[in-house]
Amino acid sequence: MAVPISQAWTVATYVLGQKMKGRKRYPLVTMLEPLYRCNLACAGCGKIQYPAHILKQELSPEECFRAVEEAGTPMVAIPGGEPLLHPRIGEIIEGLVARKKYVYMCTNALLLKEKLHLFKPSKYFSFSVHVDGQREHHDFSVCREGGYDIAVEGIRAALAKGFRVTTNTTLFDGADPNSVRAFFDEMMEVGVESMMVAPGYTYEKAPDQKHFLGRARSRRLFRSILSNRKKGWRFNANPLYLEFLMGKRDFRCTPWGMPTYSIFGWQKPCYLLQDGYADTFKELMEATEWANYGTESGNPKCANCMVHSGYEASGVNYTFGSLKGLWETAKATFSSVYPDKGALDLLNEPAKPHAPLVQIHTATTHVRETEETTV
Ligand code: SF4
Repeated sequence: MAVPISQAWTVATYVLGQKMKGRKRYPLVTMLEPLYRCNLACAGCGKIQYPAHILKQELSPEECFRAVEEAGTPMVAIPGGEPLLHPRIGEIIEGLVARKKYVYMCTNALLLKEKLHLFKPSKYFSFSVHVDGQREHHDFSVCREGGYDIAVEGIRAALAKGFRVTTNTTLFDGADPNSVRAFFDEMMEVGVESMMVAPGYTYEKAPDQKHFLGRARSRRLFRSILSNRKKGWRFNANPLYLEFLMGKRDFRCTPWGMPTYSIFGWQKPCYLLQDGYADTFKELMEATEWANYGTESGNPKCANCMVHSGYEASGVNYTFGSLKGLWETAKATFSSVYPDKGALDLLNEPAKPHAPLVQIHTATTHVRETEETTV
């Protein structure tokens, strides 16, 4: 199983409960951003280009608990920023686990080994380690030599102490599908519970604007990677969402599926866009013009998006929407090899070399300085 049975059961009963209540729009995962500071400066990141006075701010544990209770989701994801830089991250995780929330804390793992003592292993808690591919690719992607080795060392240390560990991988244009497949083998060998993979979103603020994938290129890349799948690979994703990435089915975006709370409040409409903020979750749901978002809306900011924060909830909603959805999900889960000769041919195409590294704006250097002075 890619997730413990108790987690799958909790999510299934939650979604069915929402449907029985007739809720047209319900959230699935609360995206909690307790800070924007980071100890990396990835070229594809849209979160760390804030001025220093914003990067110094953080949510208190009480603010985190209030937001999660407001949304009422069974799962919480903590991206960032780098959550391990939050001075009270141990308390935040402990409080969420006490509330029986299934928590995925994203981390680049640079500090994981030295901060493991802040956490206790629990079925409710998983580290979701950001690794973008094999050693060379990951180091290139996060603009940090040695980042891969430190991340893997952190993963091994967490696994040895009995923690749940998953990975999350963002793919950009130029990703070598053979290398990504070899990376999946590596992570399974290291012993992670499961892997999450998605295309990067075209953040306007990201320093590198050249390497974001359009939808057609995303589908082609994911078809080559996820077809002819090895049986041992475990993915931490709704299997229908993976079929969506491979171009095998289409979904409309569910922007309210993973609502985001940060130091600014509830972000409209989704994790990726910032079209204003709401003070309460209720206000977010009632005051957002949802029809203005999603690829079909014609909103240019949504044109190329296939990110899980918008579309994974669509897959989950489809799964529990009918017997057909349940059957298709079961089929995708248990016979998930996806033999595809055309996809094998794609793997034989020559890989593109990396383009030169993007120069990160000097403000980003300031992020590291801020982190060093505040931790
Ligand atoms: S398509 Fe993407 S960017 Fe647009 S609302 Fe959905 S998740 Fe947000």
